[in-house]
Amino acid sequence: MSYQSPIPWFDEFMGVAYRYYDLRMNVIPLFSNRKEPLSLWHDVIHWWVDPSIKIRFLEMAKKYWFILGADSQKPGTNLSFFKELPKSENYTRFKNGYGGEAYLRLGVYTKKVLNDVKKDALCDCGHESQDHDEGDNDVCLYNKCDCKKFSSFQINLFKKKKIITDIKFLEEKDVKSDSLVWNCINVNKYSKS
Ligand SMILES: [Zn+2]
Ligand SMILES: [Zn+2]
Repeated sequence: MSYQSPIPWFDEFMGVAYRYYDLRMNVIPLFSNRKEPLSLWHDVIHWWVDPSIKIRFLEMAKKYWFILGADSQKPGTNLSFFKELPKSENYTRFKNGYGGEAYLRLGVYTKKVLNDVKKDALCDCGHESQDHDEGDNDVCLYNKCDCKKFSSFQINLFKKKKIITDIKFLEEKDVKSDSLVWNCINVNKYSKS
């Protein structure tokens, strides 16, 4: 392992979604366009050896590092992925419910405004789009809701998937015992202010 040339780290994605889909939890790195995830799948993830795919969640008080890597049949173009993210409800739901394995898929995240959506689309405030006033800057008309502007999002998943069976949740004291995490921390921690 240590004699291989290092695999570059990639963090140019928006975040990670965790969703039930096809009976398993899906781990979905998100992108703002279709082109980049398509080429990443084609050039990198497609070549991953399934049983070698690892996801590590390095947990801190309020945030966590998402770390994803694998051995590749095309090592010359391989990449490992990482992103520092805030802990969220969906993250906690994944942690408690994934049951030992998950699907890896890529997704496209699209922000939606009031004009894009149907009347029953939910705003991030929890109320439907028809409860928002089109004439008044989209404010939510619900009593006691302080939402000032309708905002929602949609995630489109690509069909291609990989199954991941090597998933671990770690704390900072564990980093030295995991070579993927240790490498990630050493390469990325101090270079990012
Ligand atoms: Zn709202
Ligand atoms: Zn509201």
